[in-house]
Amino acid sequence: MWRWRPTVLSYNVADLLRAAPGAQQRFQLELPELPLSDDLRLAAPIAGQLRLIRTGRSVLAQAELSTALEGACSRCLRPVVAPIDVTIEEEALPLVDIDSGLPVDVSGEPDALRLDAHHELDMATPIREAIVLAEPINLLCRPDCAGLCQVCGIDLNENEGHSHADQDVDPRLAALADWQPAADNSD
Ligand SMILES: [Zn+2]
Ligand SMILES: [Zn+2]
Repeated sequence: MWRWRPTVLSYNVADLLRAAPGAQQRFQLELPELPLSDDLRLAAPIAGQLRLIRTGRSVLAQAELSTALEGACSRCLRPVVAPIDVTIEEEALPLVDIDSGLPVDVSGEPDALRLDAHHELDMATPIREAIVLAEPINLLCRPDCAGLCQVCGIDLNENEGHSHADQDVDPRLAALADWQPAADNSD
């Protein structure tokens, strides 16, 4: 099965695992594409800093990233670009001991982020999850978006002063209410 995995998001941390706790590696990230989910799209590249730090038992990944998401205004449904910043702090545990080459017992922490057997850290999943979580819930095209008319659905941003004589009346019924039979003018 084909699996999307950009090399730019995979980091070999073997050297870092052999270093003393506190050792660091820094990376500049610039990622034009990252599949997120079916209804979420990037509107700008993912850019920022990634720091990998050797801890006593793991590698700590810290990232500060910026990007933007494509969305729709929650009031008028116009397309909106929403800038977002995400901070990631994820501890990645070894799958294989760096000194002995033997598999590590993972049963104690089955859900932890793991390096692979070659000490590769794949940051695609942590970055994807952080961006999906940062999706704004109530996007607005502008803070004072007037939204759509609740009676007829017209865009109130483009129709200032639009109103209905009686907000409770369906516009089709309102048209009927205004209709009067022609007066009998026959003499
Ligand atoms: Zn709007
Ligand atoms: Zn209306």
